[in-house]
Amino acid sequence: MSVAVTKSSETTNQAVKLHPDVIDTTEEEVLKAVERAREEFSIWSALSFKERAKHLAKVRKLLAESADEIVDVIVSDTGKVPTEALVNEVVVTVELMRWYGANGEKALAPTKVNPGILMAHKSGEIRYEPYGVVGIISPWNYPLTLSMGPIVAALFAGNTVVVKPSEVTPHVGIAVGELFKKVANEVGAYHNLVQVITGPGKVGDTLVRSGVDKVAFTGSVKTGQAVMKAAAETLTPVVLELGGKDPMIVLADADIDRAARGAVWGAFTNSGQTCMAVERVYVEKEAYQPFLDKVVEITSKLKQGSGDGFDLGAMTWKRQKDIVRAHLDDAISKGAVVAAGGNDLIVGGRESIEPTVLVNVNHSMAIMTEETFGPILPIMEVANEKEALELANDSIYGLNSSVWGKDPQALDRVASGLQAGNVCINDTMVSYALSALPFGGVKYSGIGRTHGVEGLRSMTQTKSIARDRFGLKTEMQWMPLPSWLGKGAKLLLKLRK
Ligand code: NAD
Repeated sequence: MSVAVTKSSETTNQAVKLHPDVIDTTEEEVLKAVERAREEFSIWSALSFKERAKHLAKVRKLLAESADEIVDVIVSDTGKVPTEALVNEVVVTVELMRWYGANGEKALAPTKVNPGILMAHKSGEIRYEPYGVVGIISPWNYPLTLSMGPIVAALFAGNTVVVKPSEVTPHVGIAVGELFKKVANEVGAYHNLVQVITGPGKVGDTLVRSGVDKVAFTGSVKTGQAVMKAAAETLTPVVLELGGKDPMIVLADADIDRAARGAVWGAFTNSGQTCMAVERVYVEKEAYQPFLDKVVEITSKLKQGSGDGFDLGAMTWKRQKDIVRAHLDDAISKGAVVAAGGNDLIVGGRESIEPTVLVNVNHSMAIMTEETFGPILPIMEVANEKEALELANDSIYGLNSSVWGKDPQALDRVASGLQAGNVCINDTMVSYALSALPFGGVKYSGIGRTHGVEGLRSMTQTKSIARDRFGLKTEMQWMPLPSWLGKGAKLLLKLRK
């Protein structure tokens, strides 16, 4: 593996406040931002979908045109390689905006329902109405797409937004705010569609308690629980996109080359700091050795460093690197063996770890049960499909997952058996890039969905409209109750049971 190493004296100063240049928004300012967003809501929500989409197309265009500048900010805040930021953040976001623009109107159009035979004299309709102000709290690992995803869903649906980016990557959040500001200046309107507040968790907590009408949170399980608890006080609805420990199952008949390459990308892109990264692999015994050999071969050729020309960059910050190192050390102390990588190193001034392949692993190790969120790929041999599924589901998490093989029935069987919000077949993580597919987790991986029709509708509240069709003077169940109603109802039950 070739590595771009800098001296440890150049290590990023990861003191308590990572970005002293960024001011923490005060409680008073958070409340004012929400107030301004509420005023803007009265204007923005009154627009037609087409008018909103026209404005957001300008933002999309500006984002695409500013890709180089935005990528620079992402790279500077996260330490990932530029191409990765471009592909997995900017392109994915632009495509998602295109999808909402093209499909959002239909997804949010009022829907007629069948009233049923007994209610044939009524008509029913579902309307999707925006909540008002949506508070968005985002993490540091994909700071652009995980802020912009919920922001644009909220906006297309007619809401306005106050967003708090992670304190680890605040400049990306600020750049997102600038995009919206530039377009607002150009059209001379909608200056408070998206307001960015900055600071640590307590600023996020203030936002949750500020009277926003919906909270969309992406981050860890622990913080997600705190957010839900705070939101419960005002019964503010939440979408929670939380952590994962995503399993990959390799069946005996899998294409070994493809599966190995998929595992390496799924585990190591963004240095494994991906909620839907491949965090553990279960391989049927017939495929185990060839799969492992191929994974080790590819991993040992990976180029890790900062800047273009590398396959993976740095870990974003020391706290995460320390968690990964602790998981690695725990596994090794319990008998795990490093098949590739395993060393600490400094990449672009940040403490990192080499892409590492681990074998001899089992579920007594944190590396197989807790979210590692780093460039580690533990691989375990299993006897058969049944054991693979049992181990894959032996987790509190259920975000993404994958199964690799050739027999369509086996692939379908495993996909059905996996306890996860998303399953990829002969691929990994790609479900996130299919904008039409709802994305989200089961179990401790979260509540609610982003992307697709479900993601858009999750930024709305449904209003049910029941309408009388014929304008009769009375209804049979109205007062005074007709004497025959009781008997009539019993007869009806006999007929309809
Ligand atoms: P985190 O929970 O530490 O922080 C997330 C955000 O919450 C930050 O902006 C933080 O300032 C804020 N926050 C902290 N305390 C808060 C509080 N009490 N109230 C409100 N906001 C608060 O998570 P992180 O370390 O930034 O991100 C990594 C985690 O995010 C991983 O667990 C990863 O799996 C998860 N994640 C999930 C998805 C998904 O879509 N499911 C995507 C990316 C990351």
